[in-house]
Amino acid sequence: MFKLRPWTYIRRLVRSALQQRQIQQLQFGLSYSYDALKNPFAQGTFRWVAKGSYTSGPRQGQACVAKWFKSGAVFSDTYFTLDIKAVDKSLEIVDKFNQLNIIDKAIKVNIPQVWYFKDESSDEWSGQRFLCEPFIRNYQKFNSNTGWNDSSIAWGEAMQALSHFSYHITGGNYVLCDLQGGIYQRETVLSDPVILSRNRDYGVTDLGSAGIGSFFSQHHCGAYCRPEWTKPAKPILHYNPVRGTTMVRHTVPTRPSRPRVTRFFG
Ligand SMILES: [Zn+2]
Repeated sequence: MFKLRPWTYIRRLVRSALQQRQIQQLQFGLSYSYDALKNPFAQGTFRWVAKGSYTSGPRQGQACVAKWFKSGAVFSDTYFTLDIKAVDKSLEIVDKFNQLNIIDKAIKVNIPQVWYFKDESSDEWSGQRFLCEPFIRNYQKFNSNTGWNDSSIAWGEAMQALSHFSYHITGGNYVLCDLQGGIYQRETVLSDPVILSRNRDYGVTDLGSAGIGSFFSQHHCGAYCRPEWTKPAKPILHYNPVRGTTMVRHTVPTRPSRPRVTRFFG
């Protein structure tokens, strides 16, 4: 019979697919209360979010979150890989934006780590994978992957400039968007960024050229954009610009049906 334990400890297993810098963080410990896992504080259509804390390492005592897919989410296998791939691309772009010193504060990106429950965990959680990252305070959303944006809030205009810049610096191949995160005194920490790419290489939230067009159809250059930055000549709005993150399942090439569009908020 399944027996409840007051605390369930998660330890990370090394996987060859993970990058070296993440492996170096192996000594981190995390814990989540069983209640937190049974009662996630946030959810989207496809995933749950629970709050826990670091039990060792440089972030000891600080809050963290675990995100995992609800059972039956068909694309969960690739989610972890593509999520990390999108974060890596985002880091590359954000680094270049920071170097321009357009704003006097730094933009950072939360790097999620993949964690497992060990096999000796309860049957229910054994082998379950999570993405874990530091918990974000003062959460705000600045834009989405369909062109929705909010420049009225602090940092909003700077974030629209970052998305515009991402297109320019990548030769029109990518747009970094779905910018959201925590605002702190000296920096903003982004979480869950989306990369839009011409070939839709970044998973279900990558809306491709249609997403890039939608972003620029709604973008009006503000104080932080530079006039020399390139943008599409006649961007077309393909999606209803909504605040939530829009996901489109990749269709099988032999089936010329319309992609199924689902939205989730998170
Ligand atoms: Zn602009």
